[in-house]
Amino acid sequence: MTIPPHAAPPDRSALLAWYDRHCRRLPWRAEPGRRADPYHVWISEIMLQQTTVAAVADYFVRFTQHWPTVADLAAAPLDDVLTQWAGLGYYARARNLHRCAQAVAARGGRFPETPQELQELPGIGPYTAAAVAAIAFDHPVVPVDGNVERVTARMFAIATPLPTAKPALRAAATAFAGNERPGDMAQALMDLGATVCTPRQPRCVLCPWQEACAARRLGIAAELPAKAAKPEKPLRRGTAYWLTDRDGAVWLRRRPERGLLGGMVE
Ligand code: SF4
Repeated sequence: MTIPPHAAPPDRSALLAWYDRHCRRLPWRAEPGRRADPYHVWISEIMLQQTTVAAVADYFVRFTQHWPTVADLAAAPLDDVLTQWAGLGYYARARNLHRCAQAVAARGGRFPETPQELQELPGIGPYTAAAVAAIAFDHPVVPVDGNVERVTARMFAIATPLPTAKPALRAAATAFAGNERPGDMAQALMDLGATVCTPRQPRCVLCPWQEACAARRLGIAAELPAKAAKPEKPLRRGTAYWLTDRDGAVWLRRRPERGLLGGMVE
């Protein structure tokens, strides 16, 4: 497969105009052109790690009804937070969410605004920091999730397989950054990847960037991003059991903080 020279940066305004008409309405989002609540953006981004938008929506609504502000969440007992989180998996996220809420509450309830400062908070890595900075504070950065990786690989016909291609894709995605509505741009890229530039059959005829897209011109859009062959998964076996006393009451204990289902009652 030939890798063409990188195309000119695509027209941001065209994607923003598309976003104004076709953006996904999600409970943590603001209307196009407006900034979302940093507390909402942060919770949604933590929940969306390893979890689909469809699965997160109800949890997000319940969470924010239960704890409308970061100070409310910070003051909640950790067990209540873990109970509300039950079913979302990866419980370390919930414990970090609680620790982060306490750190933000200690700053007067204000989230920092730059990716560098955000990354100093518990449980916030480079991607989440970029997403909160862009979406909540219009900081001119591009958070690169799986959807944005796919759009970037196709726009610039980057054929290196994932995960090796990740640094190159992050570097190429900086071509989408700019000072005009950075938060909407970040969400527009996510939405383009989720609804038009989809993994198997990209709908290029609906794409506002079809003229600029190198993979479309080459007819290789559906082949990108390339993926390295996955090693075969080992077969794992486990045993489930429970203990009851003479009256039938189930014995419970708390699991260690670290490891699978850390901190949960079993
Ligand atoms: Fe994706 Fe097609 Fe748009 Fe290129 S033209 S970004 S492949 S939807």
